[in-house]
Amino acid sequence: MKRSFFGLQQPRFKYDAVSNVNIEPVRIAVPEKVTLFLNRPFEGKTPRTLNVGDRVKTGQKITLYEDSDAYVISSVTGVIRSFDSFLGDYGQALTAINIEPEQTDEFDEALRKALEEDGIAAARDYLLSIPGGMPPEMLKGGHVDTLVICGIEQDLLSITNQFVTKSKVSAMNKGVSAIKKITGVHKVVMALPQSLIQEAGAIGGASGVELRVIEDEYPSANPRLIMRDVMGQVVPADKRPEELGIFFVNAEAIAAVGEAVEKKILPVTKTLTVIKKDMTKTVVEARIGTPFSDIFQALDITLFDRDRIIVGGPMSGTTVYAEDHPVDPRTLSIMIQDSSDVPLVSDYPCINCGECVRICPADVPVNMLVRFLEARQYETAADEYDLHSCIECGLCSFVCPSKIPVFQYIRLGKYELDRIRLEEEAEAPETLEEPAPETEETTEEETKTAAAAKEEEA
Ligand code: SF4
Ligand code: SF4
Repeated sequence: MKRSFFGLQQPRFKYDAVSNVNIEPVRIAVPEKVTLFLNRPFEGKTPRTLNVGDRVKTGQKITLYEDSDAYVISSVTGVIRSFDSFLGDYGQALTAINIEPEQTDEFDEALRKALEEDGIAAARDYLLSIPGGMPPEMLKGGHVDTLVICGIEQDLLSITNQFVTKSKVSAMNKGVSAIKKITGVHKVVMALPQSLIQEAGAIGGASGVELRVIEDEYPSANPRLIMRDVMGQVVPADKRPEELGIFFVNAEAIAAVGEAVEKKILPVTKTLTVIKKDMTKTVVEARIGTPFSDIFQALDITLFDRDRIIVGGPMSGTTVYAEDHPVDPRTLSIMIQDSSDVPLVSDYPCINCGECVRICPADVPVNMLVRFLEARQYETAADEYDLHSCIECGLCSFVCPSKIPVFQYIRLGKYELDRIRLEEEAEAPETLEEPAPETEETTEEETKTAAAAKEEEA
């Protein structure tokens, strides 16, 4: 962080360049237990396709409930030991599938068969929980106008996408050409820092990807800012880029697609950045579902009471409360914060200093917004104080002298509004289909007469 001694300048943060770190990854051994999260609440009594004691193979698609198409990909070969309910951020209900791995992989053949029988489009049904993650709407056949590959993370300190861009050029080329065939997208853009332009040149040249340099100052890698500053298109506050046909995908996911179609086996190893208490970074490769504690042990990281584990970066990451929290397909980084560095939050009132307003890159009236969010008046916050214009950079929380958790209030507000909207949609009575307007039937006689008239005219 650079901040003027006199306090007149806003704090400025720079993204890290991958060339500054040791990029030989540390490979974590297959753990004794793997946990996979299925995006569906756990229902103990509902009939399941797999049960405790069943064996799964590496790369196997697990759709647990017969009435749902939600799935995860098994990252190991092993035996299912238990199912649990798990609450994600803001209380999202998930099913945790706990697997005891064997040390040797037996690979599932479903993707190979699908590719051989139905061609590359069949891969669409297997890519949701690929390392790096894929936008679900894109795989469901939504219109894809432009694909933006992120060669850099949104948050600070993490270097996973830069590492992949630098080290997996060939897989990325294959991934780009596969994803073009799967989704039909023609325009592919890659957003990356200046330091990676040379490496990415090989991707741009071979795959027809347009390379766009983004500024090295946080939060320029935020999708909405990339849209505005690099693509020259402002996304309306009430819309997501996906609704305009523009999808953002991590470089890691594109490389994983390339590996999947080449080897006809789904990749199950996740690359991630581990940021230690002293801010040093290590790139790690671990099976999806590996408990964080295994990674900490391999890197000699010791946690003490009140230290903090953050998934994601320092500005917009979320804290987890257990060392055995598993690596997810979208985990780009894990940050360990020493208890003495954990910034306190408070319930002190806003002093209307305006620091948050001055630093906000989206020009949100944060000082007003926070009052309505604290009072749980989410609709007023959205309708009158630009809640949905927030790009979730976290800068307002960082600068707030009253230590109000502004960013967390904003996320909670958005989540609550989404939840309420979904509930209302579910409760709304189904609209009856309008009957088709009656059309006059053309008789056989009339058809013959019309044909004869045409013939005569000719
Ligand atoms: S997180 Fe705060 S600073 Fe960032 S865009 Fe949202 S309101 Fe503005
Ligand atoms: S920075 Fe904090 S105290 Fe200052 S106006 Fe914003 S919310 Fe209020």
